[in-house]
Amino acid sequence: MRYHTFLEVNLGHLAGNLALIQRLAPHARLLPMVKADAYGNGMVPVAQFLVRDCGVRDLGCATLCEALKLMEDCPDLDARVFIFSDSELEDDKLSDAYLNFNFVPVLHNRRDLELVLTQTKFRNLPLILKLNTGMNRLGLSEADLIARLPRLKNRGVKHLMTHFARASIPLESDDLCRRQYAEFIRIRNFLANTGVAVEETSVSNSGAIEQNFGVEETFVRPGLMLYGPPSVLEPVFWTGKQVSRWVTRVLSTFEVKQGTPVGYGMNSADRDSSFAILPVGYGDGFLTFYSGVPLVLNGLRGRVFGRVNMDMTYFQFDSDQRGQLKVNDVVEIWNHDSRGITDLALQANTHAYQVMCAVTNRIPRVYKVS
Ligand SMILES: *Cc1c(COP(=O)(O)O)cnc(C)c1O
Repeated sequence: MRYHTFLEVNLGHLAGNLALIQRLAPHARLLPMVKADAYGNGMVPVAQFLVRDCGVRDLGCATLCEALKLMEDCPDLDARVFIFSDSELEDDKLSDAYLNFNFVPVLHNRRDLELVLTQTKFRNLPLILKLNTGMNRLGLSEADLIARLPRLKNRGVKHLMTHFARASIPLESDDLCRRQYAEFIRIRNFLANTGVAVEETSVSNSGAIEQNFGVEETFVRPGLMLYGPPSVLEPVFWTGKQVSRWVTRVLSTFEVKQGTPVGYGMNSADRDSSFAILPVGYGDGFLTFYSGVPLVLNGLRGRVFGRVNMDMTYFQFDSDQRGQLKVNDVVEIWNHDSRGITDLALQANTHAYQVMCAVTNRIPRVYKVS
């Protein structure tokens, strides 16, 4: 663990982002994704806040075990929890959880659908069906539904959904979202015409919501945008605040002459330089890919120098910014302006999803409401 290095998670900003999302999708109910530890922000406190303080009634986990952890830590949480991918329906012991909690498995393959339709213990489980409309990862086909029409008709579909593969690309420059949505609507209409009742629907993740796409369905499923970063980057539509702020403080400072080798691998300083050592490394989720990436610390420009170590990182000041940070100065690796984390991600050839998920549990999450 660490003390002066922490991830401050501002729940007030989370509530603000949620309200902005509701404005983009005024008629939809919100199904916030809290999978992957709420994108690194801490699943349990985030989920608790969303349900108790923001009126959210539905949450999205990727795995059954995430949902079980949520219920273990807050047993009286009043929410329906969707299990999107790793639903463990085939494991008799684990799948009893669906009978004991308000968990609903998203059925995304024939095997799972068949299990839920045939096993008597699942006879009261609502049918949540995910369609493959072109992403070709998970999802049922139209043929899978046609083969089971009488049973679907009997039972009704509680929630029908699909997932977009390229929602982070502007709709003007790529028509995959539109084609996927058209396919979704076609299958939804087909079900309606054959007498299969569908109660709820959802299609939109962050990229789609940011572009007001699919927001007429009964639910939207925001993930990334809820935590701050935009999903669509060129142009940026989303104006939410970065919920987290990664705070640390300077461990050490030093100066070297040009050509002096520094640290593991002994990378030579390309010029007379001043350095600050930050007490964050890949053991904290400050990834090795950040090597060479420009950062601004307290307004001072520089870059990540040489190798990122397990426990620390070298920050080399730009030549006109020498020596203005002192030991114990508090600095932010990113702050509530989501451009910082987005730039860090882009410079490292990754995305804000991974940057946030990467922060390890050595970094305490500190919650703030304001
Ligand atoms: C993760 C996920 C989302 C949220 O995606 P973002 O791009 O983070 O908004 C929505 N729907 C499904 C099915 C998901 O798996």
